[in-house]
Amino acid sequence: MRLGFITGGQLARMMLQALVPLRHDMRVRVLDGSAECPCTGLVDEIVVGKSTDFGAVYEFGKDCDVIILEFEHVNIEALERLQAEGKRILCHPADLRIIQDKGLQKQFLVENHIPTAEFRLVQSKAEVSEPELPAVLKTRTQGYDGGGVRKVTSATELDAAFDAPSVVEACVDIATEYSLILGRDAQGQTFRYPVAEQEFHPDAHLVHFIAAPAELKPAVAEQIERIGDQILAAFAETGMWAVELFLTTGGAVLVNEIAPRVHNRGH
Ligand code: ADP
Repeated sequence: MRLGFITGGQLARMMLQALVPLRHDMRVRVLDGSAECPCTGLVDEIVVGKSTDFGAVYEFGKDCDVIILEFEHVNIEALERLQAEGKRILCHPADLRIIQDKGLQKQFLVENHIPTAEFRLVQSKAEVSEPELPAVLKTRTQGYDGGGVRKVTSATELDAAFDAPSVVEACVDIATEYSLILGRDAQGQTFRYPVAEQEFHPDAHLVHFIAAPAELKPAVAEQIERIGDQILAAFAETGMWAVELFLTTGGAVLVNEIAPRVHNRGH
């Protein structure tokens, strides 16, 4: 079997460790922007190319039987074409289309009755008015690791913020942030890992500390359990999903966002 990872970062490296017992009949390749990625030296081949480039993803995928994404910003048209040609792709490209766009993802959460912070979609920040603030501005596409997320509390901060099609989200009073990792295997068996708790860096918007399993009050555990069921019902394919959750100071659990893969909030 020819297995391809897009891309070859720390998450792919950890998946490789889990794959060691299976490697005897597997050829493992990686597509990454750098020949010096964390998978270097551990796989049969590193192909240097951009994951957002149609040609790079398609040419790489043609020589794979199974493609695993450790990163969601991958050219979706190339993945759809590869899938149409019989390649197995985790996550499923139809799910990835929704998840890649934070606006579509928020609408998907609402359509599936999954609790999430109030929001609206804007084409540019000119559509955001002062009475809406404070709010959290999130670029619809290409934002990750805090890059496309900005809390805006005043008109001055709005002026300084990025300008792009965005989700304008109500500012949540967060008591704690949690993550839930869910999966479904090729036989349709679903599974979930213990809930983990995160502490965030207040300015960088990046995870600072993780504790697992989280200590949860029964009312919180029940809400997370229900959200897990809803997400597994909404995504019917084989795959893994990392669900980022907020516990509000009022005791409600909201989904912040879903990543279609393993996640540094859960390893
Ligand atoms: P990224 O896609 O960059 O990971 P997130 O949407 O996960 O962006 O946001 C990063 C962090 O920003 C969250 O974990 C949280 O700490 C903070 N944040 C995001 N949305 C809100 C919100 N609506 N209210 C308050 N804080 C938020």
